[in-house]
Amino acid sequence: MELNSSIEKEFRLSPRQKTALDKLGLKTTKDLLFYFPSRYENFSERKNIASLAEGDKTTVFGEVMEASLGKTWRKRMAISEITVGDNTGIIKAVWFHQPYMAKMLNVGDKVALTGKISRNKSGLSISNPNFEKISAYEALGEGSMILPVYPETSGVTSRWLRFAIQRILNSLEEDIVDPIPKDILKKYHLPSLKSSLIFIHKPRKIRDAEAARKRLAFEEIFFIQLARLCQRKEREKHHSLKISFDQKELDKFLSSFPFELTSAQKNAINAVGADMSGEHPMSRLLEGDVGSGKTAVAIAAAYLAISAGYQVAYMAPTEILAGQHFQSFIEYFSELRLTTKIGLVTSSGCQKFPSKVNQGKATKISKAQLLKWVENGEIPILIGTHSLIQDKIKLKNLALAIIDEQHRFGTKQRASLAINKSENAPHLLSMTATPIPRTLALTIYGDLDLSILDELPAGRKSPITKIISPEERGGAYAIVREEINKGRQAYIICPRINEPDPEKEMAILAKSVKEEAKRLKKDIFPEWEIGLLHGKMTPQEKEEALLKFKDNKINILVATSVVEVGINIPNATIIIIEGAERFGLAQLHQLRGRVIRSSYQPYCLVFAESKSQKTTERLKALTTAKNGFELAEYDLKIRGAGELGGGKQWGVSDIGMEALKNIKMVEAARAESQKIIAESPSLKKYPLLLEKIANNKKQIHFE
Ligand code: ADP
Ligand code: MG
Repeated sequence: MELNSSIEKEFRLSPRQKTALDKLGLKTTKDLLFYFPSRYENFSERKNIASLAEGDKTTVFGEVMEASLGKTWRKRMAISEITVGDNTGIIKAVWFHQPYMAKMLNVGDKVALTGKISRNKSGLSISNPNFEKISAYEALGEGSMILPVYPETSGVTSRWLRFAIQRILNSLEEDIVDPIPKDILKKYHLPSLKSSLIFIHKPRKIRDAEAARKRLAFEEIFFIQLARLCQRKEREKHHSLKISFDQKELDKFLSSFPFELTSAQKNAINAVGADMSGEHPMSRLLEGDVGSGKTAVAIAAAYLAISAGYQVAYMAPTEILAGQHFQSFIEYFSELRLTTKIGLVTSSGCQKFPSKVNQGKATKISKAQLLKWVENGEIPILIGTHSLIQDKIKLKNLALAIIDEQHRFGTKQRASLAINKSENAPHLLSMTATPIPRTLALTIYGDLDLSILDELPAGRKSPITKIISPEERGGAYAIVREEINKGRQAYIICPRINEPDPEKEMAILAKSVKEEAKRLKKDIFPEWEIGLLHGKMTPQEKEEALLKFKDNKINILVATSVVEVGINIPNATIIIIEGAERFGLAQLHQLRGRVIRSSYQPYCLVFAESKSQKTTERLKALTTAKNGFELAEYDLKIRGAGELGGGKQWGVSDIGMEALKNIKMVEAARAESQKIIAESPSLKKYPLLLEKIANNKKQIHFE
């Protein structure tokens, strides 16, 4: 068998199996080899039939001596019955409602039965046991009693996968080339690739399987890091527009801000300034918890670029956010009475500031006009959504690309803003509030320099977060009322937009924005103005709603999680989250971040529909974790991949996520990949590594 031959060619497949394999994304024999068990069934402790006792939960090995299909006497229920013996005794196995069992097993078959043993007058029996035909895993070798269990889908069972993978392993003609250099394997006591594949699919001891998983996890993390470092080298080859600046002028600009910068912000601005005055493009990630003031850093960076006579592009993930940043830029820059021109481009329209007619305001203009001004350099700051990366948009001398909430963009989109359309690569400032564990950051952001805003602006109070039981609902509304009476505002977040359609979705109880807003207006807060915000509204409707909320013409905004990303209304101090178990922890943290934006005391009141212990525990983490990073670490601990990971979002598999629980392993992978890149920046000396990285790139669009 060859590694890359199609499964169809090597195995006789039923149409159902074909569909199932497709669904699992398995096409070649190699895919099968790299399809790993999610767990193991350990049959190592085998017992003779003679030594079985009532109540044992165990696996019995033996040969089928009789097989019959019958009906129960009274209820006419189908029962399959077999008698199994080893050379110490016999036991009966009975399956109810499963007539096919008797047909699947024939006299003479060797089987393993797993279940609970009972004993009555007629002797030992085991009902509805799981069974394995031993022939199916004889290939595992004498004595190996650990069976891999694979993630299944209907049509492809673990049993079939075991059989197929064993056959591939046994009949492989080519050697499996190990891409990881031998000395690295030796240094960290990792098994070779071939051994790992054998260990993971047919371990003799659980420890072998663990060693294999460790190696495969290391491999994945190592290659992601190596790929990131290669990209970094690649970017460093480019030249950029060198931005030199006058510190005094910068300080003057910064002192026009309505607040004192935190020292974390100052450090970040210094780092950005130093990066951008170099020959090569900056690649910096600004990571800061919600409300830590990333925008101010972005504004300072933009100021440096435009003061040097260049252009800035600022990309945000939603129209709401792009619009909000457009406003902030106008405010920050008008303080300085700069005649700076700022453009906004989204899919629903363009605006320009300052307006010629309306002093101090922005006007709507045509896209064509805006693009022209951008192209001839007349508009130095262009803000927008992903519309910014359309080919039509040409910037005359783009020196700085800023990406807000960068995790919201695909790697492709990020790259296309940063690569640019001129000969010089722009400096890149990425920003994110997604708190991720350090191990994950080291891995997936290996190509970036990191600035962390680890302090909130002075005077921020830590939020009071409470999980509210249904009986306390009235009390929660009383707090809302109190806050609004003080002049503050509230968000109420619901998991859905529309009322559930009773015909279609009987079971869904989750509150909807529309329904809840009606109910609140009618029964709870008739005296207050209640607004709506959700993803199905037109951009104009959204903008209007937000403007009204910003001007405090709406007291309570009932919204979906659209407000999660970056919305900044400092006067809102209380957020109620309905159906909280439907949101991820990271998302809940982001939502809470909406109200930590001023020196007022923020409140986050959380309702959950489910009372399960898991829900309660998870929500409790929200009340105890001091910041997003603690929450992220917690999430990684309780559920491995966690919702942050959901692994795939970061391009990391489940096995790779296991590695991320182990900082030593991540650091080792990093150290080794750095060493290799230092020795051979283009990987010329390591053709295997180069090939592997090129392949990965093809498969999962690393860039
Ligand atoms: P995020 O990091 O979540 O993007 P923003 O940049 O939106 O945060 O800032 C949140 C709020 O904090 C804004 O209203 C901003 O004006 C304010 N802010 C930012 N930096 C400071 C500071 N150093 N002192 C006081 N307020 C600040
Ligand atoms: Mg922000």
